[in-house]
Amino acid sequence: ENPAAEKYDYILVGGGTAGCVLANRLTADGTKKVLMLEAGGVNEAKEVRTPIGLLKLFKSALDWNLYSTPQHAANERSIYLARGKLLGGSSATNATLYHRGSAADYDAWGVPGWTSLDAIKWFIQAKNNCRGIEDGVHGTGGLMRVENPRYNNPLHEVFFQAAKQAGIPENDNFNDWRRSQVGYGEFQVTQSRVAVSRGVTFQLNCQDGNKHSAELAPGGEVVLCAGSIHLPQILQLSGIGPQGQLREKGIPVVVDLPGVGKNMQDHPACLSSFYLKESAGPISLTDELLYKNGKLRRSAILKYLLFGKGPLATTGCDHGAFVCTAGQSKPDLQIRFVPGLALDPDGVGSYVMFGKNKDYKWPSGITFQLLNVRPKGAGADLSTLRSGIKLARHIAAQPACAAFVASELHPGAPASSDAAIDEFIRDTVHSGNANVGTCSMAAAPGGNAVVDPCLRVFGVRGLRVADASVIPVIPGGQTGAATVMVAERAAQILLGSAVQQLSAPVPAARLT
Ligand code: FAD
Repeated sequence: ENPAAEKYDYILVGGGTAGCVLANRLTADGTKKVLMLEAGGVNEAKEVRTPIGLLKLFKSALDWNLYSTPQHAANERSIYLARGKLLGGSSATNATLYHRGSAADYDAWGVPGWTSLDAIKWFIQAKNNCRGIEDGVHGTGGLMRVENPRYNNPLHEVFFQAAKQAGIPENDNFNDWRRSQVGYGEFQVTQSRVAVSRGVTFQLNCQDGNKHSAELAPGGEVVLCAGSIHLPQILQLSGIGPQGQLREKGIPVVVDLPGVGKNMQDHPACLSSFYLKESAGPISLTDELLYKNGKLRRSAILKYLLFGKGPLATTGCDHGAFVCTAGQSKPDLQIRFVPGLALDPDGVGSYVMFGKNKDYKWPSGITFQLLNVRPKGAGADLSTLRSGIKLARHIAAQPACAAFVASELHPGAPASSDAAIDEFIRDTVHSGNANVGTCSMAAAPGGNAVVDPCLRVFGVRGLRVADASVIPVIPGGQTGAATVMVAERAAQILLGSAVQQLSAPVPAARLT
């Protein structure tokens, strides 16, 4: 089929998380012609379809292999930014955790029509909760399958007991906004990472050396869904962005929009890891996954093939906790507990190392990946991560955990003073893979605003943005669910049936 021969109601640029959700909704009744342009290929690789395959996806051909410019706060290091380059985008290469943050996160956006009361409707619409709960918080009819982790390791229970001994309460539902997000427990996961990717109409392969063009039908629209990092680049190459920056690069200015590419937010992360005592036996995730010669265990393969369970059915970090490190009203720290040892102090680096592991007996251990999920700026973020390292040590020292732990690997004994811990963090801080905000949504133009509450680019006709880049303030949890929420609402706006009335902010007493 030749896409150029058709006229389209919608052209979507980017077939990632938001693009796939949108394409699915827009094509649902069969009356709309939708062209989706995706830079990457199809997502049939077994590494994409098996949760543990994430280990092999970082820095692979299915990843954009992006790095930041050198960051002063990270001792001038360039930070690796993983992003999926395939149909399904980063939803096909992510850690599958399902988090919404808290109601107040959405009210803080200050955008009419996008308060927590609005957002909850689109969260519910997207969700197919396998707990089967329909209670005004969860949904069961959506395409995004959400369930409890399919892999449980004895070390998860050790972590839970130690967290309890350290004074952290239990939490069996981090996504119920009527309760506090604080506590330890199982994170929910979206095991079918590609479930949202049906409804694609065309793929246009521009690598054949030919130039293709696609035309809009009368009243048609272009919607950009290329993700937080590529979206500002596409806009700026099209002459939409800060005029000084565009002129410097010789790009003719179409619309001076200073906010394009500004306001990038992420969850900065560091980790603490511990060797286990020999007497603990081979109980780490890595022990359950691999033989001593580094080959995949047959039992692990069989468990996955027969029951969809076992160590292949996890991305390794689906249990953990949310904690307020300094009496905040909402947790600033997320602990992602991994029942395996991070050999590299950069969490992503450890995954990459493990993914390439050959003929090597990976030592048994445990890891606490520590994320600042409500970052404020360098100083405050450092203090949250420092508290996180101290808390990880405190949990590891509790009787339940101490019975298994032999010694600390990272940061290691030399990092005993606050100054030494801070230096470790600067040397090893890595991305929590939650980039948002680079094309921020706002009620009115000005400042960092790029799109209005109906996702239209300020000053440009017929152009919208619908993906993680419009999220103006990062939510306190992984960003995939919030991106799907944005796409669900975008579909309603485009199809003209969005509930446009503006709801009042949620009273703090009702939702936290
Ligand atoms: P993406 O899903 O990245 O989609 C953008 C798409 O646009 C990509 O397919 C890309 O190839 C394409 N594209 C880019 N430029 C162009 C162009 N010029 N032309 C055509 N196509 C283009 N979130 C969670 O909720 N839970 C998690 O556990 C979690 N873990 C993560 C782990 C990793 C390693 C990563 C990378 C992310 C993780 N996230 C997680 C974050 C979540 O996946 C993202 O927030 C979400 O996928 C963003 O969706 P998006 O549609 O904005 O961008």
